[in-house]
Amino acid sequence: MPLLEIVQVGDPVLRALARPVTPEELASPALLRLIDDMRETMRDAPGVGLAAPQVGIGLKLAVIEDPASVSAEDRASREREPVPFHVIINPELTVEESEPARFYEGCLSLSGFAAEVARARAVRVDALDEHGRPITIRARGWYARILQHEIDHLNGTLYIDRMDTRTFRRVE
Ligand code: ZN
Repeated sequence: MPLLEIVQVGDPVLRALARPVTPEELASPALLRLIDDMRETMRDAPGVGLAAPQVGIGLKLAVIEDPASVSAEDRASREREPVPFHVIINPELTVEESEPARFYEGCLSLSGFAAEVARARAVRVDALDEHGRPITIRARGWYARILQHEIDHLNGTLYIDRMDTRTFRRVE
């Protein structure tokens, strides 16, 4: 299973509007292989989400998996619970609770940096799975943050567009 190269900020693909996955592409061997490769690349990084533009492919597709391997204190303050591996294709995001939560977040395409970003606390996402079946996700807390971050990628938006600029910093 080859690992894919994660493109870094500055690559135009990260700023382009991704196109929807077509019905013909859904469940195709090529799409399923891409999803497998994205899953392995995300786990290797490691990260909790990876959008297709981050591997240089302008499709409305992202993979998400959060083992929530943080302290009990961080889990509680961030409303962070484990999220099993899944795919979102052609997602539509609706904010359900706009009251923002502010936390540091990073991005595999801005390796080595983090900043505080205000994100809606609860969202609903209507999307397709890899077989083209409609799915509706209702998410709170950290999972809602991951969904907002990944869906931003599909619209050419990065967290640096939303961050509190004075909190931008190097990590480690
Ligand atoms: Zn990202």
